Amino acid sequence: MNIHEYQARELFQKFGVASQKGKSAFTPQEAEQAAIALGADQIVVKAQIHAGGRGKGTFKNGFKGGVHLCKTPAEVRHLAEQMLGQTLVTHQTGPEGRVVNTLLVAEAVDISRELYFAILFDRASSAPMIIASTEGGMDIEAVAEHSPEKILRITIDPLLGIQPYQTRKIAAALGLRGPLMTQASKLFTALYRTYIESDCTLVEINPLVVTPDGRLLALDAKFNFDDNALYRQPAIVAMRDIAEEDPREVAASEFNLNYIGLDGNIACLVNGAGLAMATMDIIQHSGGSPANFLDVGGGATKEQVSAAFKIILGDKAVKGIMVNIFGGIMDCNVIAHGIVDAARETGLNLPLVVRLEGNNVEAGKKTLAESGLPLLSASSMADAAAKIVAAVKAA
Ligand code: ADP
Ligand code: MG
Repeated sequence: MNIHEYQARELFQKFGVASQKGKSAFTPQEAEQAAIALGADQIVVKAQIHAGGRGKGTFKNGFKGGVHLCKTPAEVRHLAEQMLGQTLVTHQTGPEGRVVNTLLVAEAVDISRELYFAILFDRASSAPMIIASTEGGMDIEAVAEHSPEKILRITIDPLLGIQPYQTRKIAAALGLRGPLMTQASKLFTALYRTYIESDCTLVEINPLVVTPDGRLLALDAKFNFDDNALYRQPAIVAMRDIAEEDPREVAASEFNLNYIGLDGNIACLVNGAGLAMATMDIIQHSGGSPANFLDVGGGATKEQVSAAFKIILGDKAVKGIMVNIFGGIMDCNVIAHGIVDAARETGLNLPLVVRLEGNNVEAGKKTLAESGLPLLSASSMADAAAKIVAAVKAA
């Protein structure tokens, strides 16, 4: 799960991470009021979307930039009118962009240096890793590609936590000395606590800035959270913004289905993550392209199967469906009933190939055969994939 920058700033306050003052705004009036309340000489107005690269982004209406500096509350209001409700496209949003429903109106600060600081979960070392660079700002991807030596990586022992010698080492590498090193140690430690106590998988501050009067501030914030820990993070769950998520994935999460939308046209409905991966592979291998990853789980109910089927059918890109079930705990007949119900309710008119194997398979096959649905049955995974790819190509 992700949150917006203005919400991340609430966590900054809770954990004592130094940042600039700011307020969220949902209308141009609120933006103007927020600017008046800040009373700063220079104000920054920032589009709130779950993607970075806003500074260099462009709105679909042609308006340039999702981050703007301005001087007066009237100017803030005018900017808010151009940005709110519009779609912002950045190098992280993909060409479809994201609609801006919220703005952050914050105090602008003078900047002498822009640094990069992130904490993420490193799967290779099974530990949190800090990544820092003197080359902060808007193009960290380019730095990683063209001058990787400018990126420092430090693994944190999850049992010991971040150690003072490590915060000093990072500060020194970023050229932060004297009082700035003291501020840096405090800020890095506070961010590490935020990361651990909020069950984050990523905390990214780009830029972390040094001001001419010697302050170190987190100016931007991108947070990702471990979905498997959300059950113990109610305050984080309350920040969820469903408008930012793939509607197919939102619907799937309501039914506890493991669903990830992809950009192919053959939907798959599978039980078990490994089998789902193998199904996607075999579709690709047979010359097709999967529209999703979908694992209904080992003990799916008829309602879950039916919900999964409706999510698939609600996706306009889907041109064919492959059901691949290996019944271990799963009863094949439950799957069959779920498919039949959903297909009747939605008026299925796409090619559907079903491969069922295992627990109660004969009853499942009988349910499907007696339903009168125009489905193709398959004897093996390879056979199922070949059949659905051929059916989609012929359609
Ligand atoms: P993004 O990473 O999505 O482009 P940022 O929040 O990093 O958005 O903003 C882009 C750039 O705008 C920053 O690198 C910084 O130069 C400038 N900026 C952002 N916030 C402020 C601020 N409060 N005061 C001054 N400049 C800012
Ligand atoms: Mg940034």
